[in-house]
Amino acid sequence: MKKRLSCPCGEFIEGENEDDLVEKAQAHLAEKHPGHEYSREQILFLAF
Ligand SMILES: [Zn+2]
Repeated sequence: MKKRLSCPCGEFIEGENEDDLVEKAQAHLAEKHPGHEYSREQILFLAF
């Protein structure tokens, strides 16, 4: 299961599971990268 993501800004995001990772990644994007929104598919594509 993919639940880790390294944001290009250097932030490391880790979730309990895929749903949690997507939620945390979207929260990070909203806070740090306004205007950059990624879908669940895109986030999971970048996750490992
Ligand atoms: Zn970032």
